Amino acid sequence: MAKAISYAAHDPKSPLAPFSFERREVGNTDVQIEILFCGVCHSDLHQVRDEWANSTFPLVPGHEIVGRVTQVGSNVKHFKVGDLAGVGCMVDSCGTCPDCAEGLEQYCNHSVFTYNSPDKHMPGQATYGGYSNQIVVDERFTLKISDKLDLAATAPLLCAGITTYSPLRHWKVGPGQKVGIVGLGGLGHMGVKFAKAFGAHTVLFTTSANKVEDAKRLGADEVVISKDSEQMQQHLQSFDFILNTVAAPHNLDQFMALLKRDGSMCLVGVPDSPHPSPNIANLIFKRRQLAGSLIGGIRETQEMLDFCAEHNITSDVELIAIQDINTAFDRMLKSDVKYRFVIDIASLKQAA
Ligand SMILES: [Zn+2]
Ligand SMILES: [Zn+2]
Repeated sequence: MAKAISYAAHDPKSPLAPFSFERREVGNTDVQIEILFCGVCHSDLHQVRDEWANSTFPLVPGHEIVGRVTQVGSNVKHFKVGDLAGVGCMVDSCGTCPDCAEGLEQYCNHSVFTYNSPDKHMPGQATYGGYSNQIVVDERFTLKISDKLDLAATAPLLCAGITTYSPLRHWKVGPGQKVGIVGLGGLGHMGVKFAKAFGAHTVLFTTSANKVEDAKRLGADEVVISKDSEQMQQHLQSFDFILNTVAAPHNLDQFMALLKRDGSMCLVGVPDSPHPSPNIANLIFKRRQLAGSLIGGIRETQEMLDFCAEHNITSDVELIAIQDINTAFDRMLKSDVKYRFVIDIASLKQAA
């Protein structure tokens, strides 16, 4: 086993602090990765603060991981030492259920998340994520990363990227369609980039007027201030699809009313407390659908990464040292980041 250094939450109230632990031995089908960058996802903060009431401590967050392969097991077929590699939100699943058989491991009842899941390889220990200097992962859950893209800006694709890419693909967003993205944060800014890249007429909904210019820079064809009922009225019954990235409880009906007959709105943010109940008549009278979507399977995550390399798509990031993580969490809560913090893991060495 190899010693890893990290930053961990030791309880829901204290700031993250340095923490050492053992990673498992590199098994036959395992890849060991030296982590170079790790994105900071809102779900890291939720779990650090035990807001989903399922956290085990110490908790090492981080599921937007990119780095370089430093060791491979004897049966590893697709990676060699020196390759760039990535790890997203999952590190294992049952492999045999209908979801796994279709490459939709994220819906497997036995999927193992990259951190804060029981670790079958290390009994009594939870999985530890990417706010650390290395990780050992089965190659089935290891992604290939192109060297054509900026590596730090690639990290958020592993969660924010796939979370928005997957529903836009599932609902077959493309040319000739009018597509809305609700919220311009870590997820929303990727949603805008993908919807635009898929050829849809892309409309960004935001509550803040000061985000209009930036949304257009990112590729939005139109920006609507969702608090302005007059602006909202102009878009009634005109959307094929709306991707709603806002996790804070809000009125869903105002967006449902903007869908055409047979249009769908997909939610990807998990609220801490429920949204106000939607008006079911809004669904029935236009055969609309309200749906949800969770990240994406491994095959689709690779497809997304390849698409990004081909179309030069990355996340807009602010690079931080790991010592700044607690400040970054506070700023994230105020939406004071364009649009994703990424930790430069080289800074961990100073903490060791
Ligand atoms: Zn995430
Ligand atoms: Zn399964």
